[in-house]
Order: sequence, then C-alpha cells, then structure tokens
Amino acid sequence: MYSDRSQIAIRMLTRDEEVADAALIRRRVEAAVGFRAALGIDGSAYRLIHGEADLLPSVVADRYGDVIVLQALSQGADRLTPVLVDALNDLVKPRGILARNDPRTRLLEGLTQEVNVLSGDVPPLVTVTEAGVEYDVDVWHGQKTGLFLDQRENREAARRYARGRVLDCFSYNGGFALTLGRAAEETIAIDISEEAVARIRANAARNGVAVDARVGNVFDDLRGMERLGERFDTIVLDPPAFAKTKSAVEKATSGYKEINLRALKLLNPGGTLITCSCSYHISEAAFADIVYSASVDARVHVTVVEKRMQGRDHPVLLGVPETYYLKCFVLRKLA
Ligand code: SAH
Repeated sequence: MYSDRSQIAIRMLTRDEEVADAALIRRRVEAAVGFRAALGIDGSAYRLIHGEADLLPSVVADRYGDVIVLQALSQGADRLTPVLVDALNDLVKPRGILARNDPRTRLLEGLTQEVNVLSGDVPPLVTVTEAGVEYDVDVWHGQKTGLFLDQRENREAARRYARGRVLDCFSYNGGFALTLGRAAEETIAIDISEEAVARIRANAARNGVAVDARVGNVFDDLRGMERLGERFDTIVLDPPAFAKTKSAVEKATSGYKEINLRALKLLNPGGTLITCSCSYHISEAAFADIVYSASVDARVHVTVVEKRMQGRDHPVLLGVPETYYLKCFVLRKLA
C-alpha cells in the first residue's frame, strides 16, 4: 500500500506473488477474528485486528459487545474500508460498525479526521463486561476506541495482588480500580479528566464497588498524599504515553521517574506497585532503569514479580519493534 504523504511510503500486504485483492483481505480478517475467538478472553471487549501484527498494516478493529469500532490509519487502509466492513459483517455479524477515524496520525497521511457509522447502527453507550466488571462505553467519544483494551489482562493480573488500601493513578474509566476494588478495603482512583471521573463513579455504582474517584493531577496528588503521610498496599501507575516522539524521551524519563519514586514512598513494605509505560520510545530496558533509579532515590529494595506487556489480542510482530509498546511491571517493595 503506497502513501504519497506519510514518512511510511510503503506498507507491505504480502511478499509473495499473489494479488492483494478482497479475498486476501478477507482471509486476513478471518485469521485475525479466529485467533481472538481461540484466546478464551474473559470479556466482551477486545481487539479483533491489530494492524501489522495481523498482516493488515494500519488497520485497527476493536469489538465492544455487538459493535465494532474500525480505524483506518493510512491511505491504503482508508481505501480498504469497504472490503473490511464486508468481511467483518460476514464473519462477526455486529449490530453496527463505527469508523473512529479521528486520530491525528490520519493528518500525516493527508486524510480527514471523522467519526461515522459505516454499517448498521451504533448506540451512544455500549455495555461490555471484562473479568466480571460491567462498563458503559462511549465508543463515539471515549479515548482510543472507548476503552484501554490493551490493559485488560494486566488488570486481571493486578487483581491477584490487590489488598488493603488501593490507589489507581491515571484511572480513566476506572478499569484497574474496579477490578482491584473488590479485593480491597478502600480504593481511590485519580484522573485529570472530569468526564473520565464521572464515568468511574457511574461504573462503580453499576458494579456495586466502592471507589473514591477524584479529579486531580497525579503529580500533585502523589506529593500531597506524601505530605499527609498516607500509605497504600497496592498502587497502579498507568500514565498516558509521556514520550510520543523520540525528542520527548528525556522529559518523559523524568516524569516516569517522579511518579514511580512517589508511589514507592507511599507504598507500605510488602506492598505491590503495578507500573506501566505505553511509550514505544521508552524500551523495556530503559523503563526498568527508570524504576530502579526511582527505587534508589526512595531508598527501598524492590523485586520484579512479573514483567508483562499488552494483552494477547494485541500481539507483537517480530521484526516490527513498534508493535511492542506497552510495558507493565508488577513490583514488590521489600520490608
Ligand atoms: N488505567 C486506565 C487507562 C489510563 S489512560 C485503564 O485501565 O483503562 C491515561 C489516563 O491518564 C487518561 O484517562 C488521562 O485523562 C489521564 N491523565 C493524563 N495526565 C494526567 C495527570 N497528570 N494526572 C491524572 N490523570 C492524567
């Protein structure tokens, strides 16, 4: 697929001698959908097509119950949209398919930013479940395509460590808070977006989980809680990508270090820190260095209990390092 605008001029659909026609695209969609069906996912919201990793470069399709959200992030993907819609309708039979073509990357391709229904109908809110938690999702306006699906398995993994006082930083719609909240004595969730916090409160009420959801800047709030002498047993740090470009790495590094340092100080000995970075430009090794240096400054010993990445429905294509972007470490602060 050729783009006359992007820095990525060519995206390969195949290296074999074959015609890249609708039948090939359909086979790719079928393989992608079949793979997810075989994963035994505990939830009704997950990624169906993960671009390069499904040999459908720059195509994203996420399933939210009976609705599919599609993103075409290159000129070629944009042109393939009708073929993708036909294939998804045949194979998944959704109630509706929504194009969430509002990411800014579309501008780099000379494409317009738009959100519109491609087939069927798409309600303002879709209800989905994940590991027994119910969410109302706004697929029209929510961040990404509605939820942070790439963290689903990390939320489930984190639940195994949840106890005592839980603090969920950068909570968005409350994913970690609601998943961990059931095992906690008290749960606090912080996000800077008022809309997101309103959604946490609604989701908490709907699931009967007590969450103290606060609008706030995590950088300020962590410092404030440290001053007040607060302590937690389980802390989650899931910030937005601080390094969206290579030039932002230095500033991002100090941001990651700051929040990890504060969190380690707020953590009781024996407590668990689940810390994430979704910046592709910060490698796993670099992230481990940042967290180590935070632990040195906090004067604590920390062990790595688990190293995790984005969920299995967002697999990494070997040879395309950009497809490995999400790092998630489960750390234990030693007594
Ligand atoms: N943990 C969430 C996803 C987090 S996405 C989940 O599992 O679904 C990152 C979130 O951080 C966004 O909701 C964004 O609004 C919020 N955010 C960005 N900067 C922030 C800041 N300085 N303080 C608090 N929240 C912030």
